[in-house]
Amino acid sequence: MSISASDVKRHAVELGFDLCGIAPAQAFSELRFFKEWLDRGYAGEMSYLERTAQAREDVRVSMPWARSVIALATLYNSRRPHSTDLPPDEARISRYAWGDDYHVVVGARLEKLLRWMRERGDTSFEARSYVDTGPVQERVYARYAGLGWIGKNTCLINKDLGSWLFLSEIVTSLPLEPDVPALDHCGTCTRCLDLCPTGALVEPHVLDSNRCLSYLTIELKGAIPTEHHDSLGSHVYGCDICQEVCPWNSTAASTTDPSWSPRPGLDQPRLVSLWRRSDAELSELLKGSAMKRAKLRGLRRNVAVALGNLGTPEAREALQEVGDPQASPSAADPMVAEHVASALRKVESGEGGDGA
Ligand code: SF4
Ligand code: SF4
Repeated sequence: MSISASDVKRHAVELGFDLCGIAPAQAFSELRFFKEWLDRGYAGEMSYLERTAQAREDVRVSMPWARSVIALATLYNSRRPHSTDLPPDEARISRYAWGDDYHVVVGARLEKLLRWMRERGDTSFEARSYVDTGPVQERVYARYAGLGWIGKNTCLINKDLGSWLFLSEIVTSLPLEPDVPALDHCGTCTRCLDLCPTGALVEPHVLDSNRCLSYLTIELKGAIPTEHHDSLGSHVYGCDICQEVCPWNSTAASTTDPSWSPRPGLDQPRLVSLWRRSDAELSELLKGSAMKRAKLRGLRRNVAVALGNLGTPEAREALQEVGDPQASPSAADPMVAEHVASALRKVESGEGGDGA
């Protein structure tokens, strides 16, 4: 039996995907901007982006057989408060990281979809699946597959579901019927640019990672430059502000999929509680979570900066209890220790306390 686009879409929904569309494997104009973005230095230390730049300009560079991109989106929004509504002593953790690691959960669903396609198809075909893992500019293909438009905040936005979406795709040699690209609905709005705490959205659709809290708290492996410590506020893993302020998320759909429900220890944890966990406890908490990407020393570094910003006596007390280096080697790491010292200086000088 031959495989049609509508069969693939129907089965994708049965497997738990919220959106599925087809884009032709072409060199879309948006794909070309990537090189310029790199040349402007906006990728920071993410050298893997530089290494794969050519492939990211067109999926056919690494997959010359590609004819279609099956773009998929999975809603992860759970009905919990926005980071901007939390009290200052609670850690801000990006919504996408509250539950199970999306690479694993969505990856397994993608594999099922691909297996179903192979079992159903009467001809052999080439295909590769990716969940934020390959040299594919997912948002661009998702846009051309009709899943949504790329907002000025650089996220893919769907009119009905908002932007709390995990994107994934199957690149295939099958010539599937393409969808109509989605229209842009940002209009004259500039809320994401205006309300980004660091000015990282330097112009519509253009993010300077070096200033973005998501980059600084997750991708940056070394010290966080001191000029960014204040703006980190209580963010310890990622930042959702430019999505939270987007009007298209004010009535965004939510999911009941238990994979994305916040784990108890990551459900609005207090900064001091996170800090006081031993390395073994933190590792247990982050087992199977996307938050492992920052590594324990990265997470501790972020919590130390956030405690300095909180600036309360309790925050100072917690920072002073660095604890047993045997039980928590990450807290004794020289880079973390440097951030603890800087945070303590801030608390003692009375500069902390902005907390947001
Ligand atoms: S994630 Fe946060 S810091 Fe980064 S662009 Fe969005 S609002 Fe700005
Ligand atoms: S906040 Fe406004 S400008 Fe930014 S992505 Fe949303 S609709 Fe577009």
